Amino acid sequence: MPTLTQLAIIGTNEILYYRSMEKPEWAVLSGTLIAAALMIGNQGLHLEYILVLPILVSLFFFRKRLLYLAFISNLLIFFFIYNGFPEFRTIMTPYDLCTFFAIMLGILYIALQIIAQGKQMIADFMRMVTSEQDLVVKNAVMERLAKIDALTDLYNHKTMHEYLEQLIEQSNNNAMPLQLAIMDIDNFKSVNDTYGHAVGDVVLSRVAQAVKDALSQNEIIARYGGEEFVVIFPGKTLFEAYQEMEQTRELICSIAHDEMKGNRISVSIGVAEHVRGKSSSTLFEEADACLYYAKKHGKNQTVAKQHARKSSGSSV
Ligand code: GH3
Ligand code: MG
Ligand code: MG
Repeated sequence: MPTLTQLAIIGTNEILYYRSMEKPEWAVLSGTLIAAALMIGNQGLHLEYILVLPILVSLFFFRKRLLYLAFISNLLIFFFIYNGFPEFRTIMTPYDLCTFFAIMLGILYIALQIIAQGKQMIADFMRMVTSEQDLVVKNAVMERLAKIDALTDLYNHKTMHEYLEQLIEQSNNNAMPLQLAIMDIDNFKSVNDTYGHAVGDVVLSRVAQAVKDALSQNEIIARYGGEEFVVIFPGKTLFEAYQEMEQTRELICSIAHDEMKGNRISVSIGVAEHVRGKSSSTLFEEADACLYYAKKHGKNQTVAKQHARKSSGSSV
């Protein structure tokens, strides 16, 4: 009789074992059945503590539900063997019974504590990982904020100077041509005075977008000050930079601003070429002098340092 029961249990267990790959419940039940088979096969021995093993198996999965499943199924199996197999019953004294239940309850308690602690550790770990990820994202955002002007989404003054210094060094080392353009919106104060500062801001960001649209990705575009923009042209000739800034000026001029009752604005631009060995401040001074010239001579035009060119009716 024990052999048949054992065989049935082990057979069922084999099936459960393969199913345990998919569901941990089967792993626990499989453990319970192995323990039962061993107890039935050795009824004269005190093997009831082997029922602790499935409880330990359930711990691998860190799930309370599995633990309770293991505990209850083990108790049921124990009662089944205790009632169905007299040989086992005779070796179990009341003292053995009490000790067994006390130990099972003790193990259940310890296992519950382990699961609770483990879950806490996992939660702490996940929190740590998440906060580290947050930190990386925050750093990236901070880095971007430190480089980019919030209103126009262009590089800010500081970043533009950093790039310019690097490019001047590169230009000095390998004779790469380098041009700098300074662009200033004409009569912008009157835009603010007439339509309000908020409209001024909208116009500023639209102008910034137009500059981005007009130029290629190779150019470094920055908001240099209030209504002033700077463009660095690495690897381009003065004439190419001039032409591109002229196109930019024309595009800006063509935009009718709804917020300004359909009125348009214009810009003045100064372009200068970096002379090998000279500093960034010299380049800036020269571009600024061109801008000043453009402002003095009717605005709405582009003036380049060496190649004074005509645009929109004004000439230098
Ligand atoms: P010009 O043709 O000579 O350049 O004349 P302008 O009126 O454009 O020059 P001015 O330097 O007199 O005025 C620049 C104005 O730009 C003054 C300031 O209120 C405005 N401004 C600067 N920064 C901002 C900004 O972030 N938002 C808005 N709305 N206005 C700004
Ligand atoms: Mg200005
Ligand atoms: Mg201006």
